[in-house]
Amino acid sequence: MTQRQSKPGDYDLLIVGAGPVGCVVAERAARCKGWKSLVIDRREHVAGNCHDRLHESGVLIHPYGPHYFRTNNPGLLRYLSRFTEWVDGQYIVKSAVGDKLYPIPINLTTLEMFFGESLDEVSAKRLLDSLAHPIADPQNSEEFVLSRVGRELYEAFYLGYTQKQWDLHPRQLAPSVCGRVPVRLNRDERYVDHRYQLTPKDGFDAMFRKMLDHPLITVQTGTEFGDVRGRIEPRRATVYSGAIDEYFDHCHGRLDWRSLRFEFEYVEQPFVQPCVQINHPAAHAYSRTVEIKHVTGQAHPGTVLSYEYPSATGEPFYPVPTPQGSALYAKYKVEAQVETQERAVYFAGRLAEYIYINTDEALEKGLALFERLALERDWYFLPRALKRAEGLGTAKPVGAASPARSAS
Ligand SMILES: Cc1cc2nc3c(=O)[nH]c(=O)nc-3n(C[C@H](O)[C@H](O)[C@H](O)COP(=O)(O)OP(=O)(O)OC[C@H]3O[C@@H](n4cnc5c(N)ncnc54)[C@H](O)[C@@H]3O)c2cc1C
Repeated sequence: MTQRQSKPGDYDLLIVGAGPVGCVVAERAARCKGWKSLVIDRREHVAGNCHDRLHESGVLIHPYGPHYFRTNNPGLLRYLSRFTEWVDGQYIVKSAVGDKLYPIPINLTTLEMFFGESLDEVSAKRLLDSLAHPIADPQNSEEFVLSRVGRELYEAFYLGYTQKQWDLHPRQLAPSVCGRVPVRLNRDERYVDHRYQLTPKDGFDAMFRKMLDHPLITVQTGTEFGDVRGRIEPRRATVYSGAIDEYFDHCHGRLDWRSLRFEFEYVEQPFVQPCVQINHPAAHAYSRTVEIKHVTGQAHPGTVLSYEYPSATGEPFYPVPTPQGSALYAKYKVEAQVETQERAVYFAGRLAEYIYINTDEALEKGLALFERLALERDWYFLPRALKRAEGLGTAKPVGAASPARSAS
């Protein structure tokens, strides 16, 4: 990865975060506009949370949790295919309840195993209708699941897992938290429904490194935004994909994130689990075990199992989906809009927008942000009066902590 001394004003873009959003913006800016970018990341690698690396045993692992790439967008896939070849994604998940492993999402097989009767689409629908609670407008995740599958399935598959994951009762969580996982009346065992379910053949890091491999892109890993803030003055804009509350020195308070702690165990046999992921809703302190080799397809005599322990501390992974969190984020969003206007700092990505998004959505955000920058920051060609009329401003240095404004 390129590491070189930078001068203030040397770059068109300063990009904070070498995750999917940052990589796409840098790549597009270089290849489509000839813009020069400095991409920094506080971690020692690129690819953000999609980062993969070799475990000491030589097995490829996903250190920040398994990443199952999927998309419905053929254009996105075409774009990414410039930087990688693909292998088919084998995203099969099971849930360990009692002494059995049940397919997740719940499907016909899950229902047959759980209730001990053979079912088809019609009888399964009838069964679920008879189990579902009549809740017309579910207000939280518990009500949502009860209204779809009833109490027995809720207690077996959702309650314990959700409590472990969030350390909150499903009653305290928005309906969408448990609503993301479908219930199927067929035998489709795939974890997700997307049209394309693929994994980069040589891994995510290799794909993102190739994206950044351009003479107009300089990458400095192991670099904090604070180290360059006020020192690097990009000609056009700063793209910030770090945590939004951190950018504003937590002036309105800290946003609440859920994290995970990972333990990796090497096992000297080709595979340990029958599928990539097993959820553990009841037993154990860990919530899931992941054997990513099922997905990467790597040829290796051994395998690595990762144990995931949900945690209140550690890397920010999932925004805690509560009304308080949304209200706090709304305050920062107002600050961010002003910062974009006044200092040409653009906020995008999961940390900057306090949102859970999958990788394809993050990549799409990167592409959309590049389009916006091309429109708004190609200002050498815009007369000054027009720029002012459209409130586009000019890029000012992002000084040390801009004064906090009240959002009210
Ligand atoms: C546990 C887990 C599992 C996931 N599984 C999947 C999956 O199966 N499939 C899928 O499609 N998606 C999955 N995702 C989502 C995926 O990781 C994200 O969509 C994607 O990484 C978001 O890209 P991003 O660029 O917004 O952020 P990130 O990937 O987080 O990149 C942001 C980067 O900014 C850097 N940064 C932050 N602050 C600073 C600072 N102050 N200075 C310097 N650098 C900074 C960070 O170090 C980070 O590398 C998962 C996410 C998690 C947490």
